[in-house]
Amino acid sequence: MATIIYDNETTFDALKDKTIAIMGYGSQGHAHARNLHESGLNVIVGLRNGSSSWAKAESDGLKVMTVAEAAKAADVIMILLPDEKQASVYYSEIEPNLKPGNALAFAHGFNIHYSQIVPPKNVDVFMAAPKGPGHIVRRTYTEGIGVPALIAVYQDATGNAREIALSYAKGIGATRAGVYETTFREETETDLFGEQVDLCGGLASLIKTAFETLVEAGYQPEMAYFETCHEVKLIVDLIYEGGLERMWHSVSNTAEYGGMTVGPRIINDESRKAMQEALKRIQNGEFAKEFVLEGMVNHPVLKAMERQEKEHQLEVVGKQIRANIPWLNKKIDDD
Ligand code: NDP
Ligand code: MG
Ligand code: MG
Repeated sequence: MATIIYDNETTFDALKDKTIAIMGYGSQGHAHARNLHESGLNVIVGLRNGSSSWAKAESDGLKVMTVAEAAKAADVIMILLPDEKQASVYYSEIEPNLKPGNALAFAHGFNIHYSQIVPPKNVDVFMAAPKGPGHIVRRTYTEGIGVPALIAVYQDATGNAREIALSYAKGIGATRAGVYETTFREETETDLFGEQVDLCGGLASLIKTAFETLVEAGYQPEMAYFETCHEVKLIVDLIYEGGLERMWHSVSNTAEYGGMTVGPRIINDESRKAMQEALKRIQNGEFAKEFVLEGMVNHPVLKAMERQEKEHQLEVVGKQIRANIPWLNKKIDDD
């Protein structure tokens, strides 16, 4: 079982005399920077010249400079750039400005675990990875709560890396919801597995295949959309709040019996084998290699698939249906 650390077991001592540079002001970046700042810590933001986020970070009351300047000024450097861009920015602007005893931090282990970034031995390397999107990390902090986070230490040059990681997690509000200790390897591999097999990949394929099955059998696409896509949220909310038990308890007996008996025929031994293969490709680095190479040629496969997905009948019908439910289109607030 994981070690869990709570708010009252942590302090800001390890960070109170340090400058923390948050590189990037996107989903995670804005949340980390603002939360740490409001926790009373010394935060600067590193961006590229001409960045659309520059003015936003300044208007949020933060000091902004280029990534290289921020790296030079900071003791703790949290890299919150898109994963596929981190290595090139790291080697050109961050590593030349690292000093012995600095700490390098990440919110996802990909670049360290797959050796896209190989830091010098004389710096700490840790992870503080909230288990939620940035706008939730920010919103829950302002509400006095927080989202749980993972911490891990990859390299402990100063002997203080774990304490710094814990203070950082406290600063973004995560200790209020519990901080779980893990390793870069475990976080990276389980994160990729989850998003491929279950959360993003598996769920999208389940929805699309169920929708196609109904439409191919002659049912109206609107009915198919409601049953296979729209209602997913209602079910997921129940699972999120009270586990599978609450979901089974809330649905009708018909749904419970049908779901329990038919579910395992849909996600069956063949699916389990496919999951194991996906996990193997994550563990042996094949997926990482494919994704890094795809990024180097500007994502041709990803862009083609995004285009095809947009044209799928599920998306076309869904767009019309959602347009009739105006409160669904409410933009996600980003702060
Ligand atoms: P975003 O895509 O939201 O953030 C991008 C930020 O990086 C923007 O501020 C952008 O500024 C800046 N940026 C992009 N390219 C460069 C560059 N070459 N030089 C300088 N700045 C650049 O990233 P996320 O917040 O989604 O992800 C950051 C990290 O957090 C990743 O490691 C991710 O795996 C991890 N993570 C993300 C979660 C999420 O919910 N999104 C959840 C948990 C972890 P601009 O383009 O304006 O210059
Ligand atoms: Mg991920
Ligand atoms: Mg129904």
